[in-house]
Amino acid sequence: MSGGPRVAVVGAGVAGLAAARVLHAAPGADVVVLEASRRVGGLVESERLPEGFLLEHGADCFMTTKPAGLAAVRALGLDAEIVCGQGARRTYVARGDALVPIPPILGPLGPAAAWAFLRSPLLPLRGKLRAACEPFVPPRRGDADESIADFAVRRFGRALTEAVLDPLLGGVYGADTRRLSMAACLPRLRALEQAHGSIVRGMRQAMRARRRRARVGEPVLPPVATLRRGMGSLPDAAARGLGVELGAEVRAIAPAGRGFRLTTAKGVVECDGLVLATPAWVLPPLLEAFAPDLAADLASVAHKRLDVVTLAWRRGEVPHPLDGTGFVRAVGDPRPTAACTWASEKWPERAPAGAVLVRSVLTAPELDDEDLVAAARADLAALLGVTAAPALMRVRRIARATPIYAVGHPVLVGRIAERTAALGPVALAGNAYEGVGIPDCIASGETAARSVLAALALRGPVPADAAGDPSAAALAEPLIAAALGR
Ligand SMILES: Cc1cc2nc3c(=O)[nH]c(=O)nc-3n(C[C@H](O)[C@H](O)[C@H](O)COP(=O)(O)OP(=O)(O)OC[C@H]3O[C@@H](n4cnc5c(N)ncnc54)[C@H](O)[C@@H]3O)c2cc1C
Repeated sequence: MSGGPRVAVVGAGVAGLAAARVLHAAPGADVVVLEASRRVGGLVESERLPEGFLLEHGADCFMTTKPAGLAAVRALGLDAEIVCGQGARRTYVARGDALVPIPPILGPLGPAAAWAFLRSPLLPLRGKLRAACEPFVPPRRGDADESIADFAVRRFGRALTEAVLDPLLGGVYGADTRRLSMAACLPRLRALEQAHGSIVRGMRQAMRARRRRARVGEPVLPPVATLRRGMGSLPDAAARGLGVELGAEVRAIAPAGRGFRLTTAKGVVECDGLVLATPAWVLPPLLEAFAPDLAADLASVAHKRLDVVTLAWRRGEVPHPLDGTGFVRAVGDPRPTAACTWASEKWPERAPAGAVLVRSVLTAPELDDEDLVAAARADLAALLGVTAAPALMRVRRIARATPIYAVGHPVLVGRIAERTAALGPVALAGNAYEGVGIPDCIASGETAARSVLAALALRGPVPADAAGDPSAAALAEPLIAAALGR
């Protein structure tokens, strides 16, 4: 206890832990982290098996191009743990029972890439010619939102959108690209269009800049990386020293004086400020008594179920050469596997020598574990030719796994932020607002913590009898400094 304002962080996923670390570092603040489950990390969970497999039940990598993720990894002393992909980087699209490699679209345009694109059976010649015209398509001005599908069709044409971009982007965001908000899901691509007039031109320029930086000896990581002992080592490291209360599900929140009273599974917690870092769907029942409009806005963020099935075989039992990182499948295709990562081929040290580790993400209607495994195996039998009984089977069913950013999402998020700020020193963090990736969630946690610190600092110290006390100013100063990130 510091005697300063007490801030409760609800939820110890990557967003809540990032918030807690900022609060922990702020002089004068007292932080309590409340987590419902028996472990930290939320959707990030790794499991090392004695046989030598490293399983990722949720996220298996992070983008290095978004600074908050890499900065957190480095600040937590995990630099030496960063590992990049190995071997072939090609990804396939599943078309019926066939796997077709995705041709290079945005990479460096050499003769080999142009030839691979021209030869690809994924789309007709007309579609290829239309996609190749992207650099000459005028940019759309203004900042009105549009769907990812509308953006992709406008820039690259319908054939490439349906054959390649829909499965790739719909798979990542877990929904039909006609429904998804471009501004919320892919703001950086939209910014490339605005800045360079073309996505292809913008991407190539960025790649040239990366190569130049590498040539002058700057360490340049590939855009996607993972951690040697699994992504779970990130929340584990972030939680160290925070004293996270596990098994402390928050069941009720009520305003109390200038702060809040939280009823948890382990008792009552009083606090002056609050970072709510649970999934958005958890919050409406906790808020509706005193913030019904905010609760209704949060309830309007739809979530999608995802089931993760991890399977392993001996290499000789898998006829496919597994010469890539895995495959994606078009949204709307009735087969259950939305995407599949060949973990043992994508990352080093995920499986013992001679074994193959595969992770399928299914978007089937709710099935029991046995039926999920059967559905994943049927798909893999057709696509990879593997019919042997797997040596390893693991299932994670996640009922509301990922938020769906519908067109207009940024407007909703703006309103949610305003309504939250009206409650006092309260902020929301997590994957429902400004990005689902780990770096986005970390950034949202850090921003939420700073805004709560700023609100507390502006309001002054808690006890009424402290007014006029010079220690109040002394308390506020470091909090304002922390809030401004200094
Ligand atoms: C299958 C899958 C694969 C993914 N792959 C990647 C990937 O490769 N790379 C990437 O960058 N992102 C990936 N993501 C997305 C990313 O993992 C998540 O968006 C991110 O981890 C969410 O973090 P969070 O802290 O916002 O929420 P969560 O991880 O959901 O954490 C919220 C926490 O709040 C707790 N909680 C809930 N209710 C309460 C309560 N009432 N009281 C107290 N605590 C509560 C939960 O137990 C949980 O620990 C993937 C997601 C899924 C589902």
